[in-house]
Amino acid sequence: MLDKVLIANRGEIALRIMRACRELGIKTVAVHSEPDRDLKHVRLADESVCIGPASSTDSYLNIPAIVSAAEVTDATGVHPGYGFLAENADFAERVESSGFTFIGPKAETIRLMGDKVSAKRAMIAAGVPCVPGSEGPIGDDPDETLRLARDIGFPVIIKAAAGGGGRGMRVVHSEGSLLNAVAMTRTEAKSAFGDGTVYMEKFLGSPRHVEFQVLADTHGNAVHLGERDCSMQRRHQKVVEEAPAPGITVEERERLGARLTEACRSIGYRGAGTFEFLYENGEFYFIEMNTRVQVEHPVTEMVTGIDIVKQQLLVASGEELPFAQEDIVLRGHAIECRINAEDPRSFIPSPGTITQYHAPGGPGIRVDSHIYNGYRVPPYYDSLIGKLIAHGEDRASALARMRGALQEIVVDGIKTNIELHQNILSDTAFIEGGTNIHYLEKKLGL
Ligand code: ADP
Repeated sequence: MLDKVLIANRGEIALRIMRACRELGIKTVAVHSEPDRDLKHVRLADESVCIGPASSTDSYLNIPAIVSAAEVTDATGVHPGYGFLAENADFAERVESSGFTFIGPKAETIRLMGDKVSAKRAMIAAGVPCVPGSEGPIGDDPDETLRLARDIGFPVIIKAAAGGGGRGMRVVHSEGSLLNAVAMTRTEAKSAFGDGTVYMEKFLGSPRHVEFQVLADTHGNAVHLGERDCSMQRRHQKVVEEAPAPGITVEERERLGARLTEACRSIGYRGAGTFEFLYENGEFYFIEMNTRVQVEHPVTEMVTGIDIVKQQLLVASGEELPFAQEDIVLRGHAIECRINAEDPRSFIPSPGTITQYHAPGGPGIRVDSHIYNGYRVPPYYDSLIGKLIAHGEDRASALARMRGALQEIVVDGIKTNIELHQNILSDTAFIEGGTNIHYLEKKLGL
């Protein structure tokens, strides 16, 4: 078993990882930037190391500083969380070559799936359905690019192979704007991700975002934990997530789930991962794989009773998964609201001191958050200050519990998007279930 884990992250996910380590008797090392010394998990961890100034480039993205912190504290494993270095293959490689266990897949798997073009190729080879599009990168020949778009059929979407976080994408509705859009996406991708490779896909008009959680060990076992619906998005960023996805049948879940566990075995996947799909007219289309734990993992934990972060630590320790596919049963329904420090209408971040905080409670309510009375939300990082999760015997009861929790929660001193969540939870189409990825922006008049 891993003896001591360095948590290379901050905020709610760092606290989440620390809790899982504690449960398993693993000691923890928190690394933090200068303004983050008051983070809850930094105070609670067995040891902590300041790795640099506020700017993430110099702290949470500073590979040499993080590896040195692991060295000086004698950590045995490194958990990257999500964001920051979680999907950086060079980091995983550096961690392992320095003699530590990287809690995630092998560097080569991160590299394969991190490039969306090679990921799609691997998925096509594994028989996973993908969005129709260019088989590889778009080349330099304009005639070829036009021909490709005509074959796929407009509208098309130009996407950066190295893209992430909803950036590096452009929808093209007609031939006239195609070449310019390709050139612009290429330039943006080059400056944002250091890689100008772009590819083309059919732009689906009204899909839902449905993703499958998987777990794989180093002994050739892989299972899926069902799917989540994350269609409630703004600017390609998820706002509300739920499990299971409304309307997905047991048959659909089992059929695609079996393909995905096969795909995990064929690419030698290790640890927790998510296959993301667009779902339209009863068909799933793979868009990308996330080779890490996701923000929305709790909804899957609530309906399966499986602690995903604990399983990541156990797999990294070389253990076999303690369950087989047939042992995994979905119970009830779970929903998650991402609570952000931001204006609920303008979405402008709202850092500052939390003067008063009351967490909601009661049956089926879970709060994953690092905030406390007097905590100062710094302006330097993502505005996520916590996640509210509600579980119920069915979707209606999960929604009712979430509504209650949103009434109960108090976060004063800063602006939050709690009002937006109250609004979504009382929306008729959302209550009905199955709204598409454009619904929230349309509702907000964006
Ligand atoms: P990222 O890695 O930046 O999250 P994804 O490939 O996962 O990029 O796409 C993010 C979001 O962009 C999707 O959830 C969806 O809203 C939209 N999107 C991506 N590809 C398509 C497509 N082919 N058609 C329609 N929407 C798309």
